[in-house]
Amino acid sequence: MSQAPKALFCPICRKVVLATDPDFPFCSERCRVIDLGKWASGGYVISSPIHDPDLLDELEGLRDRQHKTRTDED
Ligand SMILES: [Zn+2]
Repeated sequence: MSQAPKALFCPICRKVVLATDPDFPFCSERCRVIDLGKWASGGYVISSPIHDPDLLDELEGLRDRQHKTRTDED
């Protein structure tokens, strides 16, 4: 049974993106658009899945705190 990665690095800017991100596997709409351009120019880079459970745990904790902060601002 294969499992989809819970997080990976944005293929454009190498920022960490969680599978729960709306723009997954990209960090943002901007990078998604850049990726389309790369396909067109033949410079596509494959995403790098993160499989380290400790790192994933840490990243999800960070994400949770960031989300709370952003909700505050909104
Ligand atoms: Zn990106």
